[in-house]
Amino acid sequence: MMLTGACYCGNIRYEMDTEPTVVHCHCDNCKRSVGGPFVSWVIISIKDFKHIGEQPTIHVTDGKVERGFCNTCGSSISYFQRTEDTIDITAGTMDNPSSVKPSKHIWDRKRIHWVQMDDGLPHFSEWSADSEPID
Ligand SMILES: [Zn+2]
Ligand SMILES: [Zn+2]
Repeated sequence: MMLTGACYCGNIRYEMDTEPTVVHCHCDNCKRSVGGPFVSWVIISIKDFKHIGEQPTIHVTDGKVERGFCNTCGSSISYFQRTEDTIDITAGTMDNPSSVKPSKHIWDRKRIHWVQMDDGLPHFSEWSADSEPID
C-alpha cells in the first residue's frame, strides 16, 4: 500500500510502500518533542521509506536517536534509532492517516491521566517487547 505525507509547509514530502505497524506512544520524550498529549507512530522498514524534496533537520538525543523535523514549519516527521532498521513516521503528517490501523499503546505508565481512549487496544507499561499488556 502506497502511503504519502508531508510537513505543514509542504517542503518535506515522503512516501512509503508498506503495510505499517502503528502504535500510540505516551512517553515523555515523544510528548515533549512533538508537543501533543501522545504521538501516533507509523513504524516501517527504512528501505520502504523515501523522502521527496527537502530532508528533515535532525535533532540527535542520547547519541543514537534521530528525530527529524521541518526546519521551516517545525512539523515533527520521524524517529530513528541508529541501531534499528526501522523508522517511525508521525501519523499526523500522513495525507490519509485513516488508512492505517493502530495496534497498541506503549509507555502507558507515562500516559496523561486525561488521555482516555476507548479504542479496545492493549496498553503496555513501557515497550511492548518488555512486558505483558496491563489491560
Ligand atoms: Zn515544513
Ligand atoms: Zn515515545
